Amino acid sequence: MYDENNIFAKILRKEIPCDKVHEDEFSLFFNDINPQAKIHVLGIPKFPCTTFSDFLKKADDENITTFFKSVQLVINNINIEHTGYRLITNSGEDGGQEVAHFHIHILAGEKIGSLR
Ligand code: 5GP
Repeated sequence: MYDENNIFAKILRKEIPCDKVHEDEFSLFFNDINPQAKIHVLGIPKFPCTTFSDFLKKADDENITTFFKSVQLVINNINIEHTGYRLITNSGEDGGQEVAHFHIHILAGEKIGSLR
């Protein structure tokens, strides 16, 4: 069940601020408050969905494509396509997800260490 009071829902409702990187009709990208790399951007769709799997269930094909094209747009805008980056989405308890609104982490700007 989607919790309307999760922190990213509050950011979408503009109840709390964010350091915006990109916004369009369907998605919002902003800098992580506790960056794990020199560049650490979070990307979220603007509709309520808890995880990657929930996003795929609820979004239609056009919206899924639009979201991932926006991820690529941000990658282009912050100029990391050629230096490299890591995309992560944590899902659920075992995945270590803290905020229950589906999001993609874009980590870049330096060599990202091993996952463990
Ligand atoms: P998760 O562990 O759910 O994949 O990642 C949640 C991310 O949200 C963490 O990297 C955390 O630093 C970030 N975060 C949590 N609260 C806020 C906030 O209020 N603003 C921003 N910009 N990021 C947040």
